[in-house]
Amino acid sequence: MSMYNKFRKFDRVRRKMLTALTGGTLAGASALSMYQARAATGGPRSTGQPANAVVDLNKKGLQLIITGSGSALPDPLRGGASCAIVIDGAVLQFDCGRRVLENLMLVGINPMKIDHLFFTHLHFDHISDYDYFAIANWIAGRQETVHVYGPVGTERMSEGAIRHMHAMDFDFVRTILEYWPPHMTKRPREAPPYDVHDIGPGKALETDRFKVSCLETKHLPDASMKSLGYRIDSDYGAVAISGDTAVSEGMKTLSQDVDILVHECVKPDLGMTPGGKFSLKDFHNKDLMEQRPQTGHTSPSQLGQLARDVNAKKLVVYHLAPYTSVPAAIEMSGLYLGPSPGPSIWGEFINAMKRYYPGPVILAEDRMVFSLSEKD
Ligand SMILES: [Zn+2]
Ligand SMILES: [Zn+2]
Repeated sequence: MSMYNKFRKFDRVRRKMLTALTGGTLAGASALSMYQARAATGGPRSTGQPANAVVDLNKKGLQLIITGSGSALPDPLRGGASCAIVIDGAVLQFDCGRRVLENLMLVGINPMKIDHLFFTHLHFDHISDYDYFAIANWIAGRQETVHVYGPVGTERMSEGAIRHMHAMDFDFVRTILEYWPPHMTKRPREAPPYDVHDIGPGKALETDRFKVSCLETKHLPDASMKSLGYRIDSDYGAVAISGDTAVSEGMKTLSQDVDILVHECVKPDLGMTPGGKFSLKDFHNKDLMEQRPQTGHTSPSQLGQLARDVNAKKLVVYHLAPYTSVPAAIEMSGLYLGPSPGPSIWGEFINAMKRYYPGPVILAEDRMVFSLSEKD
């Protein structure tokens, strides 16, 4: 048996176990998952095999792809929390942190095919690949305008990324254009092909196939900074996507009766971890947190209650901390997470959610794919 086939077999067994544990459905065999499982068990690590291309842009239906399952803490085994939704070939990307472009490619989607890009908020872990996408996509010759939406500050962030952070590349593309061979097609557009919109609560986008709505969530300490959650409604069903948030009325409204709720869960319940900021009592004291507002997050017990209360049909949990990542990532995240409690932490997360929520709970991994097809 080749090394690759051994990895595939190992991954199939592991995914079966995970499916049994979570009561969910896992699709899209992932090389990163194999790597992750091996890292978690301390076994030898794969250098990474190409993942199967599991997303067909010509397929009718809604496909949800986890383009990043990790948190703000650097983690080579999980990209920044983000996902893509493909509806009848239209590609909607939600947040654009680390690894989004690579994960899209590994499931068979050329990032140049992103039609609409939505930001939940502008923390670095949710925008860190946007500048790369914006310049690379422009240079690669994207002709159609990409519509970019996000809370107040998104236009300024985009302008800063393209014209300031990458001022040199901006000028460089202008020079390329000046000397573009006349017989060569796919000449990049004169200006970067982005139409960027600061948006507030309400309808963000509506086409004849889907509608995207958003509401404010509870994440940022300063009232002038906003964070948004999104809901996508289509003939195939509804998906709600949280950015970072404490339990919020906004997410409760957006998540009502959804087929899939994709929600952050970076903060463990009190007592689950032995050290670090997340294990401090004060960090879990609602009154203290409101007096001294920091960035709000949701714990597994809180998320289980939310999923139950909104009657979500399936819960996909992302923005997961690097508890079981490589040792250097665990060490770097020590201020927040303390020493790693090991892989048992994920069982504790699932158990805490399932204490309240009877539906399937899936802890996301990069490049998981979920599909919804037309309802009868
Ligand atoms: Zn985040
Ligand atoms: Zn954040």
